[in-house]
Amino acid sequence: MNGEDWRSLLTDATKEVQNRVSKVVEQGEVSKVVEVGASGDTTLVADKEAENELFKALTPLDGLRIISEEAGNWGDPHAPLVAIVDPLDGSSNFERRIPFYCTSVAVAKGDSLAGISWALIRNLVNGDVYWAEKGKGSFKNGIRLTGSKRASLRDVVLDVDFSRGPPELVAKLARLVTSVKRQVHIGANALELCFVAEGCVDSFVDMRGRMRMTDFAAGYLIAREAGAEVTAWDGSPLELPVRLETKISFVASGSRRIHADVLDLCR
Ligand SMILES: [Mg+2]
Repeated sequence: MNGEDWRSLLTDATKEVQNRVSKVVEQGEVSKVVEVGASGDTTLVADKEAENELFKALTPLDGLRIISEEAGNWGDPHAPLVAIVDPLDGSSNFERRIPFYCTSVAVAKGDSLAGISWALIRNLVNGDVYWAEKGKGSFKNGIRLTGSKRASLRDVVLDVDFSRGPPELVAKLARLVTSVKRQVHIGANALELCFVAEGCVDSFVDMRGRMRMTDFAAGYLIAREAGAEVTAWDGSPLELPVRLETKISFVASGSRRIHADVLDLCR
């Protein structure tokens, strides 16, 4: 399949996810739990139904295996392509009715970050679609994304995920957090990486070592293809295996200049 085939397939599949998740809300099953997923988190009915919709579209494809937050590893481990899926990113927002959650799918050749070739994230509240193809750019609803235009930390909106991280991290990042215009964290990391691509968030820091590949893979490509820098906190490139158990720390910024300033204050 070429990029256009993937874009079309993932656009349709994630639209089905959006419909399905809306039904769960209508049926009053927002907090209903089904099981504990492969990630160890509790699985809501909405997580499972979202996954079922994506699996309906992906499992018939030849040469594709799947890594998914709820089901874990699916398919032939030697398949040439792997789909990395978070059916519902921001489940705790969903459950509390904070209107910010999404579905995230990346497709990689092989098992390295560099192999991620196509990615699509859909905001399940308003239907916004973020799409990227390696080497061909990032788009929101068809409009090209180009990262941040800000030049100074004083104007920066900084996203930091501290949740369930070590207390020392708050002290380590205190200077950074108090140097920017505003610090936010909204609770759906895949969508927050799209915000870096879009430039509405200028930089996103997650140094907890807890972020999963299923939350990260699609947003990584979307941010990179918009021109964002995505590295380790010391500025080194991320070279991580695309596996269910991989845990990630990163700094993503929508421009080189902001990235350098943020890394300075992360040290
Ligand atoms: Mg999830």
